[in-house]
Amino acid sequence: MVKAATVLNQEHSTYDFAMTINGSRVLTDEFDVAINPATEQPIGRFPVANRHHLDLAVSSARAAFPAWRDSEVSVRQQALTSLADLIAENMEAFLTLLTTEQGKPREGAEWEIGGSIYWLREIAKQSLPEEVVRDDGENRVVTRFTSIGVIGGITPWNFPLLLAVWKIAPALVAGNTMVLKPSPYTPLCTLWFGELAQKVLPPGVLNIISGGNDLGQWMTEHPGIGKIAFTGSTATGKKVMQSAAINLKRLTLELGGNDPAIVLPDVDPKAIAKDLFWASFQNSAQFCVATKRLYVHEDIYEPLVSALVDYARSVRVDNGILPGSQLGPLQNRMQYEKVCDLLEDSVSQGHQVLAGGAPLDRPGYFIPVTLINNPPEDSRCVVEEAFGPVLPILKYRDIDDVIKRANDTVYGLAASVWAADVEKARAVARKIEAGTVWINQVHVFGPDIAFGGQKQSGMGIENSLHGLAEYCDMQTIMERPLQQ
Ligand code: NAD
Repeated sequence: MVKAATVLNQEHSTYDFAMTINGSRVLTDEFDVAINPATEQPIGRFPVANRHHLDLAVSSARAAFPAWRDSEVSVRQQALTSLADLIAENMEAFLTLLTTEQGKPREGAEWEIGGSIYWLREIAKQSLPEEVVRDDGENRVVTRFTSIGVIGGITPWNFPLLLAVWKIAPALVAGNTMVLKPSPYTPLCTLWFGELAQKVLPPGVLNIISGGNDLGQWMTEHPGIGKIAFTGSTATGKKVMQSAAINLKRLTLELGGNDPAIVLPDVDPKAIAKDLFWASFQNSAQFCVATKRLYVHEDIYEPLVSALVDYARSVRVDNGILPGSQLGPLQNRMQYEKVCDLLEDSVSQGHQVLAGGAPLDRPGYFIPVTLINNPPEDSRCVVEEAFGPVLPILKYRDIDDVIKRANDTVYGLAASVWAADVEKARAVARKIEAGTVWINQVHVFGPDIAFGGQKQSGMGIENSLHGLAEYCDMQTIMERPLQQ
């Protein structure tokens, strides 16, 4: 078992993080190394699973399934509460490990680790009771939610622990067992959580395995897995859907987005600049629901742009482990190079860059906050999901036209509307093609609030009882007295 103290001393060490299969710590012959994105130094080694390890994990989850499914729901709910306690007891170590492997500063790490605890505690209160849909003295019809079996969880690198918990909590409380694979860029918090979890879960109920992208693909093809709960890019989501067809796996896909924010002319630009800034740049904009296109009415365009530039200048981009750092680096070199390429494209197209514009000259994957002034609507920085701190600010005059522009994307994850007149904002929100539309706020999530993407931003729902139902099949039982 990795001890909290060891985790805190991870920097530059080669401590081996382990997978958890059937309740046991499992190492492999082949290893990969997690890199601190703020320093580009190694943090720790983690196992690279092969097909044999996946088979072991799936068969242990299958063996654990009947007893876990047949346990009282209160037992499973209590297990989630105990998992929350385990994270809480190791809060400091998780915060440091998360900042070290993901790059986010302390405040963001507290949001994620605190959120993981909160989600486990709240999902522990959820259940889906049977429903008697007909009982007329002759016929009795009951619909019930039945566990699926083994759930395969696949997660990305922007919120590694929280997005794992969003899957683990409902999967387990619904009576399923699980094999979960974190991103190869950020496997450490999840591997450690998997080890800790064995203190409260029967062996085989939660297996955490690590490896490359091919491991994810093998999971989607594996006949022993009944459902894939996936968060990641739209491109990968399409591959998951294709290979999951092999045994008609159930799917929840939480994918990419290109979220618009629409600012109506009746706002005070100075008063909302800070909220709009963080709507875009939280977690260094590595946020599926970050504002990625900011549409501002022409009447307030200039003052709002100038307030945003002023605020951007006050924000400190630095190693997240340092007190006072507000934005960390991008999480990995692949994403850093992708965003650098996007910046180069804007510069070569002659876009006016109001802040940032080029990577910082220091070790680590640091890109400064970049604001681009009214680029053409078909520019790459407007059309593509940057998943990095590059925000195009776009001018509009006519509300119907801006709604059309906001919806002119293959994505439909989230959006926001900002207005003093909430009635007007609500009318705009109802015309936006997105799974979530916030009004005068962003990034409010809850275990009781349905979250999911429209169009190519995904399928299915996470959170709420709708999300819990996605970890179940439905069964109808119809009965009547024997006719004799
Ligand atoms: P990614 O699609 O590259 O990887 C996500 C996960 O899928 C990783 O664990 C990866 O190893 C695995 N994977 C890669 N190839 C696979 C394959 N062929 N089959 C199965 N699994 C495979 O995404 P990423 O770069 O880690 O994350 C960034 C993307 O995730 C962005 O597009 C972002 O918008 C999206 N995202 C969406 C949400 C949401 O809730 N909608 C949340 C966070 C991130």
